Amino acid sequence: MLDAGIADCFACPRLVAWREEVAVTKRAAFRDQDYWGRPVPGFGPADARIAILGLAPAAHGGNRTGRIFTGDRSGDVLFAALHRAGLANQPTSVSADDGLALTDLRIFAAVRCAPPDNKPLPIERDTCAPWVHRELELIRPTVRVVVALGAFAWQAWWPAMTHVYGVKPPVPRPKFGHGRLVSQPGVPDLLGCFHVSQQNTFTGKLTPAMLDDVFTEAKQRAGI
Ligand code: SF4
Repeated sequence: MLDAGIADCFACPRLVAWREEVAVTKRAAFRDQDYWGRPVPGFGPADARIAILGLAPAAHGGNRTGRIFTGDRSGDVLFAALHRAGLANQPTSVSADDGLALTDLRIFAAVRCAPPDNKPLPIERDTCAPWVHRELELIRPTVRVVVALGAFAWQAWWPAMTHVYGVKPPVPRPKFGHGRLVSQPGVPDLLGCFHVSQQNTFTGKLTPAMLDDVFTEAKQRAGI
């Protein structure tokens, strides 16, 4: 079982130390809660036609609640957009038992453990790649579009193309951009989207309307 297996991974010493330290020290507002403090598995049905590939769990978000993009500001923005798009049954994501359900969508991250400063290293992305590939194998029969949230996730797609689909990435690699589309036979379409980080959403670099445009296009391309 993919979700159970991933919770036991200890392959990245720096991230294992950080995820566990945060789970002990906690943020004051969550002092009374038990943090998850382990790798965060993907979320969403196995027959998803759209995948969202994120960066990594947030220390006090996914690393606290055990569900990706759950319990932090990034998730607030993302799930509000997914609800508007009809891909989520509710606009909020606060805890693993809040009743949130996705339709036609599975969300997972390039790195499964919370990194210091929200900045995983390329070596940690490479080490975690087999988990991404297993997520893609799970939804491979149905997935048609992969939305990469940010350049780090965009970079994680190329080895996945080779490992999961046996298709060589274009040379040179297309650069990440918001709204950038890479479409080629035999693999899902890749669609770039600025990450839903506070850095982007608070500054207006990424607006709700821009997210709506991305998910409208993703749905069209996925036949939803
Ligand atoms: S980031 Fe990925 S590979 Fe590294 S410890 Fe966490 S689950 Fe394992």
